Amino acid sequence: MSKIKVLDGLTVQKIAAGEVIERPASIVKELVENSIDAGSTQIVVETIDGGKSLIRVTDNGEGMDREDVLLAFKRHSTSKLYSIDDLNTIMTLGFRGEALSSICAVAVVEVITRRVESEEGIKAIVLDGIVNDIMPIGAPTGTTMIIKNLFFNLPVRKKFLKSNSTEDTHISDILTKLAIGNPGVSFKYIRDNRVIFNTNGSKDNINTIYELLGKDNTRDLIPLDIETEDFKVIGYLSKNTLYRSNRAHQYLYVNGRYVVDYKISRTIENQYTSLIPINKYPIYILNISIDPKNIDVNIHPTKQEIKFIGDTMIYEKLGMVIKRNLNTVINIPKPVNKRMEEVRTPSIFEINKTERVDKPYKLEDDKESIIVFKDLSHVEIVKEDEALSKEVEIKNQTNKKDFKFSALKQIGIGFKTYIFAEDILNDKLFIIDQHAAHERVLYERLLNEYNNESIIVQQLLYPEIVELNPTEYINAKENIDYFNKIGFEIDIFDEKSIIIRGVPMIFGKPNSKSLFIEVLDKIDVKIMHNHELKLEKIIKLACTSAIKAGDSIKNMEVSSLFKQLDNCNQPFTCPHGRPTIIEITKDELEKKFLRIM
Ligand code: ADP
Ligand code: MG
Repeated sequence: MSKIKVLDGLTVQKIAAGEVIERPASIVKELVENSIDAGSTQIVVETIDGGKSLIRVTDNGEGMDREDVLLAFKRHSTSKLYSIDDLNTIMTLGFRGEALSSICAVAVVEVITRRVESEEGIKAIVLDGIVNDIMPIGAPTGTTMIIKNLFFNLPVRKKFLKSNSTEDTHISDILTKLAIGNPGVSFKYIRDNRVIFNTNGSKDNINTIYELLGKDNTRDLIPLDIETEDFKVIGYLSKNTLYRSNRAHQYLYVNGRYVVDYKISRTIENQYTSLIPINKYPIYILNISIDPKNIDVNIHPTKQEIKFIGDTMIYEKLGMVIKRNLNTVINIPKPVNKRMEEVRTPSIFEINKTERVDKPYKLEDDKESIIVFKDLSHVEIVKEDEALSKEVEIKNQTNKKDFKFSALKQIGIGFKTYIFAEDILNDKLFIIDQHAAHERVLYERLLNEYNNESIIVQQLLYPEIVELNPTEYINAKENIDYFNKIGFEIDIFDEKSIIIRGVPMIFGKPNSKSLFIEVLDKIDVKIMHNHELKLEKIIKLACTSAIKAGDSIKNMEVSSLFKQLDNCNQPFTCPHGRPTIIEITKDELEKKFLRIM
């Protein structure tokens, strides 16, 4: 007897269901996506016991008629695509016709639905793929799906579900992503009979973001709304003053679909290099709209991954767009001091100077009354009572455009490192980290000189022969071209040593040997294939080492440093993303001394 058998339909269905339905959150995702595709503006999701006992999704979308219900739960039944060519124009979240058939293969489903033109609704129970007990029922327009007894017929699967609270976390994570990506839809999430969140569906997703990500994560976001020939990006990016230790708050959507695309994430993160500290991650919420024929959404069963086809320049173009926008809003960071932050009630994310403030409107938030002011280039959130003191002036945290280091009044230097300076007119005190500032100045100068091919080399009176250990030697040999390019005149001398004949002039008169060794020790760029990046990294290392050696800065006057900072593109952060300057307002000081409360 042959050992091979064709599997029966039900077994095939259960195996296929496993691909789509991994846990309760997968059901929530599929049901909510269906509700969105049905044009709903209100979606309520209720779960009990991490979704294991009950998941109920209610929407006010277009609903289904009797024939639809009979077909909807069959495999590969969909109203969203009729032929393969339709994939080129697909804008709906679903199209594979697999979700409902998968769900009803692993749980008991009850559906109540009504189309707007129908006089009555219908109710049915679906069990093991078969629609039972279909009957008319009075119901509002829209659809309710009730899922009970998840994995009742797959005990091993059921056993491997995690605790209720872990499953709850997965559900709220997926709902957060869906809600942020669909600001025009109001989402209500009720967990074990408690309302967890309720977004207002007001189209402007700053409200949804505020509701879901909280005050701290929304404080310093810049709106982005850009259209290029090939795509449109709309959303929010964090400024250099807002970052996290992980990537949890990075939300990327393509044509409204939440996606994971490491190449895009890295492209965005790369624009923050040298603006935020190393190992910190920006926050972003971006929706890229692109002609669906240029993407393949069908490479992953849950469609979380997509592929850009045709135009591979999308990454470069996106990177450029983001960089340009970030550069205009680099701000002076505030000293990190939790208590002070709390006293400073208004959270402000100002973009550019604005001429006029639009009518305020209220965010739906039970805990605090919040007013949002906005116009095209400017968003501000303040507490209601402050807003009521009528004209709330748009505060500038301070923008590169109108900030001049050289206009500050120098007060003195603390700990041989920190320059104190004041802006009397605006009642602000600034503290500048001399080392970080020097590093920024040197970095931009060397980079400019390199770009303009104008690096001046200072020839050493006595060329230095430096003996290296084998690793250093290989490192030096491999990177010698880069060193040459940035003004280090270095040659291989013999089997174990190199000879230094000159160093970049801007480093002054450094101890060239220790400077070179220091850079060499830190070079870990062998694996980097991008030459420009590698070069940039070596330049950064060289500047850090030059500053550390201290030779070049001893005699530099503070006023000269300030003038040079004024000429920098990014004077507020060092090349590694740490702040060069922090700001304290007179108000803040007075609060600290309890002169004002
Ligand atoms: P897909 O979403 O890929 O089309 P599904 O199995 O998720 O496949 O759903 C099958 C069909 O059932 C959908 O194409 C849609 O026509 C209908 N449907 C499912 N959920 C809803 C809903 N909430 N409102 C209206 N129609 C729905
Ligand atoms: Mg679907």
